[in-house]
Amino acid sequence: MINYDCVVAGGGPAGAFAARELTRAGCKVLIVDPAMGSRRLEGLSDRVARLLESRGLSAAMATASEPGHRQVDWAGLQSSANGERLVRRPAFDQALRFAAVEAGAHLIETRLGRIEKGAPDQDVIVTLSNGNSVCSRLVIDARGRQAPSSRRLKGPQTLAISGLVKGTPKRSGTRVVSSPEGWMWQAGLPGFGCWLQICVEADSLVGGGQAALQDRLKGFLTQPQLRSQVGMLDLRSSLLARPAGLVLSAPELTLPVIPVGDAAVAIDPLSGHGLFWALSSALAAVPMVLTILENPERGAPLAARFYRARVVETFWRQARIGRDFYALEQDLSGHAFWDRRSKWPDTRPARQVPDKSRLETRVVVENNRLVERDVLITPQDPGGVAFIAGLPVADLLKTSEGDLTPKPVTGTPSPALQAAYPWLRSRGLIRGGTSQSNQQSTRTRETA
Ligand SMILES: Cc1cc2nc3c(=O)[nH]c(=O)nc-3n(C[C@H](O)[C@H](O)[C@H](O)COP(=O)(O)OP(=O)(O)OC[C@H]3O[C@@H](n4cnc5c(N)ncnc54)[C@H](O)[C@@H]3O)c2cc1C
Repeated sequence: MINYDCVVAGGGPAGAFAARELTRAGCKVLIVDPAMGSRRLEGLSDRVARLLESRGLSAAMATASEPGHRQVDWAGLQSSANGERLVRRPAFDQALRFAAVEAGAHLIETRLGRIEKGAPDQDVIVTLSNGNSVCSRLVIDARGRQAPSSRRLKGPQTLAISGLVKGTPKRSGTRVVSSPEGWMWQAGLPGFGCWLQICVEADSLVGGGQAALQDRLKGFLTQPQLRSQVGMLDLRSSLLARPAGLVLSAPELTLPVIPVGDAAVAIDPLSGHGLFWALSSALAAVPMVLTILENPERGAPLAARFYRARVVETFWRQARIGRDFYALEQDLSGHAFWDRRSKWPDTRPARQVPDKSRLETRVVVENNRLVERDVLITPQDPGGVAFIAGLPVADLLKTSEGDLTPKPVTGTPSPALQAAYPWLRSRGLIRGGTSQSNQQSTRTRETA
């Protein structure tokens, strides 16, 4: 039986990217994916484009369009700007899987069947649907919303119905429109066609199959506000139905399985954040795997804390950001779709801002490994800062009688320390200082 460091179940954006980065970090990796993704368009944000470019993933970027025109009809306001790229899936996923294979990962085009866990210090046996089995120390679960979970936490559940409609776009562009029954996203891409996606209450579908999806789409497009859009009922493909609500599937890490992307938190497509989360959570899995492989006893508890902080925080932050965005649509309050989403989960702010700066011990990434570090939390940096101008914050600050004060310096301050002064001053943590450098030149590193 072949032995791997890590088997990655699912070769969508999260799994393929995790496999590539782990292989480049020296791990022996197998990706298992049936490569059966359905043809569809999605929006690719600037953050994703920057991440892919910084990692040399130009072939994956080549499956995306140039930034196109974007029109938003939301909350009674109309705005248009240039910016949104469109990406063809599954061509994008395939390019990422190819990049993983090029880096040296093995790929088997089948489904993952079963994961058999032995004793905590023993490898797992992973059985594939093609009948083969392999041995692995860890498994990354990147099976998206299809990943099994016994502890799901869900917001209001949305159904997305999408497909190609009549039209031959001459340039790429998107449009978002809100309506009493939900919202609609139209995207046109030359050579691909006109893509329509509606997002409605999950329980508003009556019956099953294509006929039920077409009826639901017809009901949506014949709302008085959208009558001019009824021509979009001229379909050029079968319709695709997908769950699209926010879901927290795996709040705790249960090793040897590390969930990433939608398998950990599946995000409402309204945010346009799904692909970024898929890739960034895959990247965060790399130091988790490396730290556990090197020293399971020390690495496992660090990974569990690191994972919980990122995943649970992402779920609640996305829940509250989504709530605030739905709440903007005051003209549609009173309609069930909007009322449910603009009130869930609670009334707390999307980002908690501490009223006072403090040091807190957290698990952070350093040299692609997890370590415990003191992190500085300030009202301007609620996410936490571990390093200022390359210096650990614990080397710069101390807590004295509940207040943060700079540690005394003997002799001439080093250039790094001088570079840190303006930043500390900008946070009100230091008065005076000798540095000439300005705040922009002070490099900080947030906790990953
Ligand atoms: C309707 C809709 C519209 C969206 N629009 C956008 C958008 O415009 N912009 C954006 O950024 N995000 C968007 N998202 C979110 C985005 O699609 C997801 O966040 C992203 O695909 C998650 O990537 P992933 O790799 O975690 O999961 P997935 O992309 O779901 O990949 C999972 C992979 O696992 C494989 N798999 C499943 N079961 C098994 C198994 N048993 N064994 C092996 N492999 C398996 C599948 O074949 C698939 O390749 C949208 C989501 C929805 C539902």
